[in-house]
Amino acid sequence: MKAKPGRVLIGRRELDRRVDELARRITEDYRDRDLVVVGILKGAFVFLADLVRRVDLPLEVDFVAVSSYGKDTESSGVVRIIKDLDLDIRGRDVLLVEDIVDTGLTLQYIARILRQREPASLEICALLNKPEARKVDIEVKYCGFDIPPLFVVGYGLDYAEHYRHLPYVGVLEEA
Ligand code: 5GP
Repeated sequence: MKAKPGRVLIGRRELDRRVDELARRITEDYRDRDLVVVGILKGAFVFLADLVRRVDLPLEVDFVAVSSYGKDTESSGVVRIIKDLDLDIRGRDVLLVEDIVDTGLTLQYIARILRQREPASLEICALLNKPEARKVDIEVKYCGFDIPPLFVVGYGLDYAEHYRHLPYVGVLEEA
């Protein structure tokens, strides 16, 4: 493993505070609605787990998994669903939860497929956003942090399947 997490970009306390704020907004916005929180595996699992435990509403959770970067840090632009939803989302209020939006290609693809199933609404919640890397126009309604175009790991995000368990977001650095 040549690259390793270096400096901390977003620490535990900062993550905690921001996840709280997002959960409060979601709780207000989805009152009396029919919420399904859909996590994109694997990267969103830590963020989603922290988020849903603070949303003070009835909700259901489901996951989709897509093929990702593999062992590389460059976006291939190739996205494929490898695990579909178990729930029927027709007529439901879907909140799609993603770890990070980079080019936006992954979310654009998943959102397009899920919209074909005619949910009542579909919004996006992403912990991290790299605005400078965007290639397609997508609206991230609930965004944790805008970050510079660095490759980050931790809090669910991996490098070659490592470092997802770190309780902070760190910058990957060459060893
Ligand atoms: P996009 O399709 O928006 O270019 O990329 C989204 C996906 O790429 C994310 O779900 C994540 O899997 C991966 N990705 C993008 N930037 C990073 C990063 O800085 N760190 C890690 N670990 N994954 C990233």
